[in-house]
Amino acid sequence: FVNENTYNRYVAEGREEEFHRLYEAALEKVKEELGREYPILIGKEEVRTEKKIVERSPIDTSIVVGVFQSGSVEDVSRAVDVAKAAFKEWSSVDWRDRVELSLKAAEEIRRQKFELAALMTYENGKNRFESVAEIDETIDYFTYYAHILEENRGFVREMESRIYRNEHAYSVMRPYGAWLIMAPFNFPAAITTTMTLGAVITGNTVVVKPSPHTPLLPYKMVEAMRRAGFPPEVVNYITVENEVIAKYLETDNKLDGLAFTGSKEVGQRLLKQFINIRPRPAVLELGGKNATIVTAKADLNKAVEGVFRGAFGFGAQKCSATARVFVEAPVYDKFVEMLVERVKNAVIGDPRRRETFLGPIINKAAVEKYRRFIEQAKREGGRILVGGRVIEEEKSYLVEPTVVVDLPYTSDLWRTELFVPILLVMKVDSLEEAVRYANDVDYGLTAGIFSEDPKEVQYFFDNIEAGVTYANRVVGSTTGAMPGVQPFGGWKGSGWTGRNAGGPYYLLSFMREQARTWYD
Ligand code: GLU
Repeated sequence: FVNENTYNRYVAEGREEEFHRLYEAALEKVKEELGREYPILIGKEEVRTEKKIVERSPIDTSIVVGVFQSGSVEDVSRAVDVAKAAFKEWSSVDWRDRVELSLKAAEEIRRQKFELAALMTYENGKNRFESVAEIDETIDYFTYYAHILEENRGFVREMESRIYRNEHAYSVMRPYGAWLIMAPFNFPAAITTTMTLGAVITGNTVVVKPSPHTPLLPYKMVEAMRRAGFPPEVVNYITVENEVIAKYLETDNKLDGLAFTGSKEVGQRLLKQFINIRPRPAVLELGGKNATIVTAKADLNKAVEGVFRGAFGFGAQKCSATARVFVEAPVYDKFVEMLVERVKNAVIGDPRRRETFLGPIINKAAVEKYRRFIEQAKREGGRILVGGRVIEEEKSYLVEPTVVVDLPYTSDLWRTELFVPILLVMKVDSLEEAVRYANDVDYGLTAGIFSEDPKEVQYFFDNIEAGVTYANRVVGSTTGAMPGVQPFGGWKGSGWTGRNAGGPYYLLSFMREQARTWYD
């Protein structure tokens, strides 16, 4: 397995300019696609509803990205019926054929890589580096899970031991049935894919329900999978408002599994609803309040760049975003001064432009949330060293990356996931103290340390409560996990199952074990 890693490859081959030309050409090309209408896909049927969901671009609200259907509880129910009916046949398809289809889907997406990345810039405001990286991550899931299925030979194992001479025993991992896949706005291609593919490559069928803010890339993923040969009844797609799903789940007894990525509150509520009717598997990827520790032995250039990217990449709209930084006293002043300088130099604006680091956040509600948190930070005694202002909130949603210091620890901002670019920094006396603070939240998703001392790094790995940990990661501290390299998933309130996406065990979440023994 080899990661797609497009940008780095172009750079390594001395073709960086070509990367930019391809992306810019794609930006032009996809313009003709903007504003189209997309149906709900239930098996082979294309469903259109009277009510629509109109998706506007956060980079320019006069641009309609697409017009989507606004499905009802009955539409969801019908889609689940179709997925359920398709399960028996799909689950008996040989795993090698499912591997084939997955690799074909990877190829489908690779072919349209720059167009899909350009559409993502329109859809959720990611700049070119981040949107191409997300399409790469998507391709990686298709190739990596195919690889994992191969490596485990379809998860069928002959057991080593025998009690009787005529006994033959196997462990066989088998799918559950029909799953509902609920995808978030921040990674509409990659996270939709990891959950959708995780379910179907192991023999389940799905109904994909994207975030109403970003339904286009999920549509494209479903389309690519269907083109590659996944049967339409196996991969269904439904656009509905979130309340419709909540309503549907109140009485649903048909679904066999639920995969959700989003906030802890929503995930926990859905899970309760889901298992209230009967015990059923759920794969939940929830929030984070991720810490990075900078010790006195850090290389400050690395630490500043890593924290800057981890905290403000895509406007902190990642559950992996760096939200808290604990800095040892001897380097605190210097670190803060350098970080503020770095933030001041960040280019904020239209993500279609090459130099833009930070594009818009997702919508008006996010801007309002940003403003509320900034006011709260000030009111509770925090000092804003840089940022804190809304730049634009009508035509686009631009806010400044913000660094807050001196915020009393009693403030609940230390424990709340914000999902907007506000970073809290605190001075600490030791690595031990930093780790104590880092662990003092209900979350346990990602964490980072900057230290050139291997003993400190070891202490951090051994004591930090987080599912994804990094030392000296300049490309984004706590963010940017790659499939097959950094399995991604959370401990504590950040996740449910403990088998990380893009890791060797992820697929097990979508299967149950059957012991098969026979005698001759
Ligand atoms: N996997 C992404 C990362 O490592 C974050 C996923 C998310 O925000 O949900 O940055």
